[in-house]
Amino acid sequence: MTAKVISGKEVAAQIREELKGEVKNVKEQGITPGLAVLLVGDDPASHSYVRGKEKACNETGIFSSVTRLTSEVSERELLQRIENLNNDPTIHGILVQLPLPDHISETKVIETISPEKDVDGFHPVNIGRMMTGQKAFLPCTPHGIIKMIQSQGISLSGKHAVIVGRSNIVGKPVGQLLLNENATVTYCHSKTANMQEITTQGDILIVAVGRAGFIGKDYIKEDAVVIDVGVNRKEDGKLYGDVLFEEAAEKASYITPVPGGVGPMTITMLLYNTVESAKRTLEGASS
Ligand code: NAP
Repeated sequence: MTAKVISGKEVAAQIREELKGEVKNVKEQGITPGLAVLLVGDDPASHSYVRGKEKACNETGIFSSVTRLTSEVSERELLQRIENLNNDPTIHGILVQLPLPDHISETKVIETISPEKDVDGFHPVNIGRMMTGQKAFLPCTPHGIIKMIQSQGISLSGKHAVIVGRSNIVGKPVGQLLLNENATVTYCHSKTANMQEITTQGDILIVAVGRAGFIGKDYIKEDAVVIDVGVNRKEDGKLYGDVLFEEAAEKASYITPVPGGVGPMTITMLLYNTVESAKRTLEGASS
């Protein structure tokens, strides 16, 4: 069979349209959702991601402020800037673009962001809330993956979801969200034995490894839903996923492309969390 391609661009555009309406609503009640981004150093990929986030905010009506700091900035100054943003009522979401230079602790940075403004969903409080089924800011890429699957009317309940990759930002949390949707979840990682035996059992296969073309058709169950999270730039300058798209599409029932798949969903869920945070401020003000 030839898989149906799930366009992240299309699903994201639809969610962004809905968000525009919500932003308008919130503005009518006197609040403009605001996102503050802190960017340290001159990594070209990070600069490009941040420009994308700024543009997406502008298009949705969200106020955004980007502070660009040199890689020499001290950890203390960065933490102080986060504290200032925690106390700034015009800011509802704070994002520190990762990775950070070696002299700055990512853990300290993440834990300094107020959980109520942690729109990346990386703070241990939000992770704990997600795990215990409480209201939380969900991490953007995993949340985007769930939205993409649901956009196709695919039920997750009772399905076997296999995840290749167990990073804190993608693999682990997407497994938790799938579990929350009543899927049965198996993780594979670099120490997994007989990985092919496991991935070929996945009704849903999520691949977040960071190696171009790592998963071919022999690793995919017939009719599986294949979500490719990988973003790998090859020497030809083009972006490639972790899945060999052409051959995987012959076996899967649904598949996401790279680019134009999970990527656009990640930024969209960041906007979603920022609007959500602004709405919570309003709820707090009225209760
Ligand atoms: P990461 O932190 O490097 O984690 C990679 C995971 O892959 C690890 O858990 C690792 O296992 C596993 N792995 C490595 N080699 C393996 C092998 N031979 N067999 C099985 N598992 C193996 O990466 P990440 O941050 O999750 O990102 C993964 C990919 O997604 C990257 O290409 C990244 O650019 C992309 N990404 C895309 C978006 C988006 O918005 N589209 C967002 C985030 C990430 P161990 O834990 O055992 O080392």
